[in-house]
Amino acid sequence: MKIETKCLHSGYTPKNGEPRALPIYQSTTFAFDSTEFIGDLFDFSASAHFYSRLSNPTVAAVEDKLADLEGGIGAVLTSSGQAATTLALFNILKAGDHFISSATIYGGTFNLFAVTFKKLGIEVTFVDPELPLEELQKEIRPNTRAVFGETISNPTINVLDIEKFVKLAHDNNIPFIIDNTFATPILCRPIEYGADIVIHSTTKYLDGHAIQVGGAVIDSGNFDWKANGFTELYEPDESYHGLIYTDHFGKAAYIAKARAQMMRDYGMCQSANGAFLLNLGIETLPLRMAKYCENALKVAEFFKTRKEIKAVGYPALEGDANYELYKKYLPDGASGVIAIIIDGGKENAVKFMDALKLASNVVHVADIRTCVLHPASETHRQLSDEQLKAAGIDAGLIRVSVGLENVEDIIADFKQALDKI
Ligand SMILES: *Cc1c(COP(=O)(O)O)cnc(C)c1O
Repeated sequence: MKIETKCLHSGYTPKNGEPRALPIYQSTTFAFDSTEFIGDLFDFSASAHFYSRLSNPTVAAVEDKLADLEGGIGAVLTSSGQAATTLALFNILKAGDHFISSATIYGGTFNLFAVTFKKLGIEVTFVDPELPLEELQKEIRPNTRAVFGETISNPTINVLDIEKFVKLAHDNNIPFIIDNTFATPILCRPIEYGADIVIHSTTKYLDGHAIQVGGAVIDSGNFDWKANGFTELYEPDESYHGLIYTDHFGKAAYIAKARAQMMRDYGMCQSANGAFLLNLGIETLPLRMAKYCENALKVAEFFKTRKEIKAVGYPALEGDANYELYKKYLPDGASGVIAIIIDGGKENAVKFMDALKLASNVVHVADIRTCVLHPASETHRQLSDEQLKAAGIDAGLIRVSVGLENVEDIIADFKQALDKI
């Protein structure tokens, strides 16, 4: 099936007389005839949904669809994008381990890595993603266990050189984990370039309508955990009466452990109703992504003509610093998100934001409606000036998320607001 067809049909096929639309299994638990069978479920010698923290039929259908869209072997939906990042890394890292992350990542992820992981004894090194491979290699330590990046960085809108990061990881026998939130599997499928684990904040384009917070972790099934010494995946799990994930689940060991151990213990699960809403978003994702890209390119071209804006970051603009990477990794479009830097720093940025009438001033992005956000006074206000600079964030930076309104209305709104500066 082509991707548009997968968005509609993967994950759920009704049998004779069953509902055509994916049903919501609004039940915490499932009933069985025998105690012995439930015992078999815990031994993984039988398989069925038995408790909705671990798995649920509605959630599973959407997990299978997302795995199919990304070209992975399996997926786990989580309660948020933050939960997905946490789950993806906790599944393979422990106190004493180190990992490398691109410095241009979502502010929430930055905090999670720099502050909360650090408290737990997991150390991160943030790297400038534009450094050559030889320089990046110098940051690898004996205890480095993963490399992390974002396909299109939030909020600076840089396109990651995925193959360079994959090479950095694989040269050192460690996995590359990528946050593919802004690109979605419609615009980029990082597994095709060698990424091992893909994560999403499904809150953004995948849901698309600003109605349900969620996340996902997708396993390519391609990383050889045993050959590369990730002991927790091939030594007996005492908390699961000696289960050996690589023996029992083969290529799906990582995602099986993410569910059986991590989801069991941390409980950051998506609900059946949440998965149902996410599925509605995914069904129209290909149509929406194409339109976001079309509208955003026109809006970016308009911003280019305005003297109040000192820089426009949109990878699909010819001459953009990310144009070559865009052509390689995002040939179908660069999403609806644009980074602009208003001349005159914070003061003018705030003036512009407050003058908007159609675009909403929200802590959100990648929505069906056009919205804007000022990182320096909102999502990234906890970062020091130095950290802001390292993350490439100017005080005048505004993240514009172009929606599906008629593009003439969107441009008219930005025009009247710029005129007020
Ligand atoms: C929003 C976002 C997250 C966090 O997702 P939540 O669903 O808000 O927890 C992670 N990564 C990126 C790129 C995001 O835009």
